[in-house]
Amino acid sequence: MNDQQQVTTKPKVTSSPDYDVIVVGAGPYGLSAGAYLKNLGLGVRVFGEPMEFWADKMPAGMLLRSPRDASNLADPRSAFTLSAYEAACGKKPSSPIPLETFVEYGRWFQTQLGSDLDRSNITGLTRDKSRFRISLSNGEVIRSRRVVVAAGIGPFQRKPAVFSQLTPAQVSHCYEGRKITDLAGKRVVVVGAGQSALESAALLHEAGSDVEIVAKIPALRWIGMHSWLHHMGPISKMLYSKYDVGPLGISRLVATPKVVHHIPLTLRDRIRVRAVRPAGARWLPERLKFVKVSVGRSVEASKSMGGEVQLKLSDGTERRVDYVLLGTGYDVDISRYDFLSPELVADVQRLDGYPNLGAGFTSSVPGLHFIGATAARSFGPLLYFVAGTDFASKELTSYIRRHRASS
Ligand SMILES: Cc1cc2nc3c(=O)[nH]c(=O)nc-3n(C[C@H](O)[C@H](O)[C@H](O)COP(=O)(O)OP(=O)(O)OC[C@H]3O[C@@H](n4cnc5c(N)ncnc54)[C@H](O)[C@@H]3O)c2cc1C
Repeated sequence: MNDQQQVTTKPKVTSSPDYDVIVVGAGPYGLSAGAYLKNLGLGVRVFGEPMEFWADKMPAGMLLRSPRDASNLADPRSAFTLSAYEAACGKKPSSPIPLETFVEYGRWFQTQLGSDLDRSNITGLTRDKSRFRISLSNGEVIRSRRVVVAAGIGPFQRKPAVFSQLTPAQVSHCYEGRKITDLAGKRVVVVGAGQSALESAALLHEAGSDVEIVAKIPALRWIGMHSWLHHMGPISKMLYSKYDVGPLGISRLVATPKVVHHIPLTLRDRIRVRAVRPAGARWLPERLKFVKVSVGRSVEASKSMGGEVQLKLSDGTERRVDYVLLGTGYDVDISRYDFLSPELVADVQRLDGYPNLGAGFTSSVPGLHFIGATAARSFGPLLYFVAGTDFASKELTSYIRRHRASS
């Protein structure tokens, strides 16, 4: 092997301890945590393409379900809010928020991290004595005392086995970024009754597809249909938090993740499942008025028949369509993060696929933290949403500040 070959095949290992904290992922959680950690004066670096999941995996034209107050990324001075972004670029505040505005907002927010952001992907993460060894997509290897995993839900798509016979040209999950406009004029079955499924069905219909929604639940549900409940001044404030996650009564509890963390797991799970049960935003019933909806049934078999897809439903009927879009949600399972070494995953104490987290979002591996959806089993459903970035960033940085000397 000559010198030139050695340079290209050997990873470049830097010798210093490198970083105090590195953050995996530059979505709302990673960017917010980065802003807070930078403010502590630590050696911090956030890795990932800013807002990639929102820009590339969500359907163009989508509207955010979360209200404006629940759609701010978090920074220590609250200087980089959605409203601040709109004011800075002369944009009229809109509600609901278009996806494109939110992506631009996140990227604007990111600029305040400056050189503390690196667009490389993390390809490997292992424990190396009291440090973490982190491999980057550019071939570099760095070390850090702490790692914050803010890598989102991308790898957790739930794809029911019944669709495994279909080709990628015939089926995809809503989070895979299939262009809605590519399906114009096609017959599409959308499976599911949550926001992703229903919003995708509306966009497909508007793009000229012949759409049918197939859902297990007996009737579609809508969120925020009793808007008067939100307009009763102080009474509404008692009933709902500004984040608007979860129904009346539960909403305020969900807004205090620290309290939720202390609730016994069985009850905490019930609150979580109830708060995020499948439902669509209030603007969708009107847009879905002319879309066929088949509720109370599921797809029991699927087959590729030439260019067509044949579906057998639980009510005994059949469908022949061109494409199936799965709005079937996701199952958090950190072993599906391909950058985490299997040894590291094995060392993380888990509740099913979720890490079991303590104060400061710490896992059972010292120095390894998880924020975002992976933290929802420990801290409740607010952590599934952008609204949880404020709590997560504060709790994380306060813990790291307190344990600075020991790390
Ligand atoms: C269709 C849909 C609609 C939604 N609507 C809303 C809504 O209206 N309001 C709301 O609050 N929430 C909504 N959500 C939930 C939303 O996904 C989360 O609120 C939000 O994305 C959480 O941010 P995050 O930073 O944890 O994850 P993400 O936004 O997914 O960011 C994680 C980032 O990490 C990056 N990453 C992953 N692995 C690596 C790696 N190895 N190296 C470097 N980078 C990596 C990914 O590319 C990704 O960009 C919606 C979700 C979906 C699917």
